[in-house]
Amino acid sequence: MQDVLNTLGNNATNLLENVKNSEELEEIRVKYLGKKGELTLVLKSLGSVAPEERKEIGMLANDIRKKLENIIESKKEELKIKEVEERMNSEKIDISMSKQNLNTYGHKHPLSIVIDDIKDIFIGMGYSIAEGPEIETTFFNFDALNAPFDHPSRDLQDTMYITDDIILRTQTSPVQVRTMLENKPPIKIICPGRVYRSDSVDATHSPMFHQIEGLVVDKNISMADLKGTLNMFAKKYFGDKTEIRFRPHHFPFTEPSCEVDVSCFVCGGKGCKTCKNEGWIEILGAGQVHPNVLVAGNIDPKEYQGFAFGFGVERIAMTKFGVSDLRYLYENDVRFLSQF
Ligand SMILES: [Zn+2]
Repeated sequence: MQDVLNTLGNNATNLLENVKNSEELEEIRVKYLGKKGELTLVLKSLGSVAPEERKEIGMLANDIRKKLENIIESKKEELKIKEVEERMNSEKIDISMSKQNLNTYGHKHPLSIVIDDIKDIFIGMGYSIAEGPEIETTFFNFDALNAPFDHPSRDLQDTMYITDDIILRTQTSPVQVRTMLENKPPIKIICPGRVYRSDSVDATHSPMFHQIEGLVVDKNISMADLKGTLNMFAKKYFGDKTEIRFRPHHFPFTEPSCEVDVSCFVCGGKGCKTCKNEGWIEILGAGQVHPNVLVAGNIDPKEYQGFAFGFGVERIAMTKFGVSDLRYLYENDVRFLSQF
């Protein structure tokens, strides 16, 4: 019985020494130590061995089992490392590969195209770019912009609050006051940036979108200057024949306030799908800076006046590029983006 066990142990050890991969190792383990393995069967049959030999044979069988288990364990580690190395070698990236497949270049996102084009036009008119924080205080986002305490835009349903007086800015307008506090007139800035509202996502709404704000503060600034500026912008951006029209509106931070339409750049005003047969497309809100806002910006409204305007970038991109659903602009689907 001892001889049988020793031979069995030696055979198993020999096989294990020469094992080539994990599958083979597992086969050997099952052959000797599995439920019906050769060594397992010997251990099971101990009952039939004469009692005086049982202890000795049992100890030998157990020793052999432990020895085999140890070898299997260390072989397993060894093979694992070897197999990872082999896989890394076989998967090595061939940097000498032909560059034929790499000749497609990325380009600007449609929203960046709109923002950069608008920036270029205003920089050409002597404006500079201003920026402000996206996490803003209620002071700069509401109070300094003449929004009374009960103004509906302060509602939780519209504004994302971080604390009672810190929010995600709902508009780029806080940059107006920040700029006035840091600079003396004349001020001519535009401020592009992300803004946040507590909206759910659908074809025309998103909790995050982009605005471009414009602000001019100087002596003797009137609505005529605003109209001249936006007229010039509209012609440069939408084409020479573009007309603009002002409609009265209300914003807390401007007085008087207006919404501004451009004549449809697709049909020229006759009516089409893009302008929903109106002939006009609304592009922005504007007005003369409210005296209270100038005061909040530490500027004397008796000496200085100003105008401000604000675009929704997504709205312009959708109109200009004929995009029917806002969500396409955020999904980063290359099939969509590569069209622009
Ligand atoms: Zn039209």
